[in-house]
Amino acid sequence: MARLASIALPAKAGKIVFACALSSVCAVLILNAGAPGKPEASDVSLKESGTSGEARTPPVPKAVPEPSPYSVNSATVERTFAETAQRLGIDAGTTVALSHAFADEIDFTHDLRKGDTLSAVYDRPHEGAPPSTEPLAVRLTVGDDSHDVFLHRKLDGRAFYYSEDGTSTTPSFSRYPLSFTRISSEFSHRRLDPVTHRWQSHDGVDLAAPAGTPVHATAAGTVKFIGRQTGYGKVIVIQNPPPYSTTFAHLSRFAKGIRRGSKVHRDQVIAYVGETGWATGPHLHYEVHVDHVAKDPLTVALPHDDRLRGAEREHFAKEAHGLSALL
Ligand SMILES: [Zn+2]
Repeated sequence: MARLASIALPAKAGKIVFACALSSVCAVLILNAGAPGKPEASDVSLKESGTSGEARTPPVPKAVPEPSPYSVNSATVERTFAETAQRLGIDAGTTVALSHAFADEIDFTHDLRKGDTLSAVYDRPHEGAPPSTEPLAVRLTVGDDSHDVFLHRKLDGRAFYYSEDGTSTTPSFSRYPLSFTRISSEFSHRRLDPVTHRWQSHDGVDLAAPAGTPVHATAAGTVKFIGRQTGYGKVIVIQNPPPYSTTFAHLSRFAKGIRRGSKVHRDQVIAYVGETGWATGPHLHYEVHVDHVAKDPLTVALPHDDRLRGAEREHFAKEAHGLSALL
């Protein structure tokens, strides 16, 4: 933008003066003095080199602008969502959370194209602190459609991405992956294993059910492992939205089409109850891991439908509105 100043100088008609004013701004002074009707000391246009002229009021000492508390980054999709997120400085765990957050509306395999864009708003780090890898707001523009999600920290400290209407983008969890007849063995840090007859921890819960009973994914996720493992027999491990993963063991067979890398949705049938591996009868051995630590599946805190409500919803809406303006 052209920066101009109108200043009064005693000057001679028609003279063009080069001046270095205001510390470093070298300018051309165009002196209009002597023109008919003009006073001897005329208005002078001080014009920054290389800019077009326009009338200006005298320069006001510049206030030091408040640095924005946010930084905004943007990247164009070259190959995959994950690779684009990485270029934006988003960490791997958050990338998985975001891909789940967008998965309801966007099929990354079919919809995402080269040239689509991903933008992220971050808290500007304090001086000397490393940059944040968990954006406050993210916009994915696919073709002509934009999809926004916003980070919201719950009172318990855990943060999740929400859509602008306050709906959680984290898929909710089911407590049980099948209808079972009884709990044949509970989670414990130390128990006598009925097969190995050794004291060891039982990292999950055994849910007895007739062989062939369908086993459902308890939350959306990606199949991280499918195959056989010692003790577990036929087993599936699903990476759910962080920090969760789930394990399903002693299966008789896997559901059609389920393979490593498959995306599954909550309640999808992934396998059938069996007694492969070290099992004394047909049952499902089910584990829930939180940040890679096995937790009791019967009592572990699971994300449920935590749509924001009331004052929390209002606070979120205000924040989201401000952040979306930056994207
Ligand atoms: Zn078990």
